[in-house]
Parts: sequence; structure tokens; C-alpha cells
Amino acid sequence: AMRQLPYFCRGEVVKGFGRGSKELGIPTANFSEQVVDSFPSDIPTGIYYGWACVGNGDVHKMVLSIGWNPFYKNTKKSVETHIIHTFKEDFYGEILSIVITGYIRPEKNFDSLDALISAIQEDIEEAKRQLDLPEHLKLKEDNFFHLPEGKIVNN
Ligand code: ADP
Ligand code: MG
Repeated sequence: AMRQLPYFCRGEVVKGFGRGSKELGIPTANFSEQVVDSFPSDIPTGIYYGWACVGNGDVHKMVLSIGWNPFYKNTKKSVETHIIHTFKEDFYGEILSIVITGYIRPEKNFDSLDALISAIQEDIEEAKRQLDLPEHLKLKEDNFFHLPEGKIVNN
């Protein structure tokens, strides 16, 4: 797992490469290349969990994938956040703030779409359970999520 958790990160939500996450019912908000480049280079790929907040909105549980970006022929990482919440609208261009608090598993290849989807559902359940533990729950209230008022009101 990662040497330095919790890890705090904030950045704009950009268009991904259309792997159809939303069609699977698991949309993932992608960070820009600059934000990904600012991550520690030794951060292992895999599935993580933590807290996320869009603009100055509510803080929700999330699962996060750090993987290899096919757009850059797998030479660059991609960081994608699935927020465990139903939003009324997409939020491309908004500022996403996250804190990564724990690690679930390494990246895997799956034999079928069904196998992939059920693995992600299990990741989500695991994230929900872990985030209810005091050690992780306390980060939901972190000052990091309280942006200066009036700055971003777009959600
Ligand atoms: P892309 O390839 O552009 O990342 P996705 O199918 O992964 O497309 O959908 C991601 C987008 O869906 C996000 O950028 C965001 O605007 C929107 N979205 C809506 N609900 C969620 C959610 N619960 N978690 C993450 N993104 C969401
Ligand atoms: Mg995505």
C-alpha cells in the first residue's frame, strides 16, 4: 500500500477516455494529467477508498482507482474517483477534493464484464465498511474540505 496515507488532493475534473464507466453505473471522475503528475511517483496502482467533495458540496464516501492510462500507452497513471452518491448532473470542470485513507487491492484483469462489475461492487461495500471506522470517519470532517467561502459555488 501507500507509504503516506491519508493523502490529500484537489483538482479539476476532466473528460476521461470514455471507457464507458457511466454505462456500467460506475462513473469515475478523472483528474487532469497535471494533478496525476503531482502524485508521489512511488504510489502503487490499485483500488483505494476515502472521502470526496465536489466544489463546496457535501463530503461523500468514494472508491478510487490509480491505474495505467491507455491514452498514453500505459506510460502515465490515471486517477479516477467514483463517488458513492447519486448526483443530479455531471460535474466536469468542477474542483474535486479527495482524501485517500486506505487501500483495498491491486489492479486486476477480469475475464468478463460481469466479473469486473461485481469486483467493483465488492470494493464499494468494503470502502463503505472501512470508512465507518473512527480512524477513517474522522477525516470526513477535515478542514481540507472547507474551502474559502464564495470561491466555488457551482454544485
Ligand atoms: P469519463 O470517461 O469522461 O471520465 P465516465 O463515464 O467515467 O466518463 O463519467 C464520469 C463523469 O460522470 C464525471 O466526470 C462526473 O462529471 C460524472 N459523475 C456523475 N456522478 C458521478 C459519481 N457518483 N462519481 C463520479 N463521477 C460522477
Ligand atoms: Mg471516468
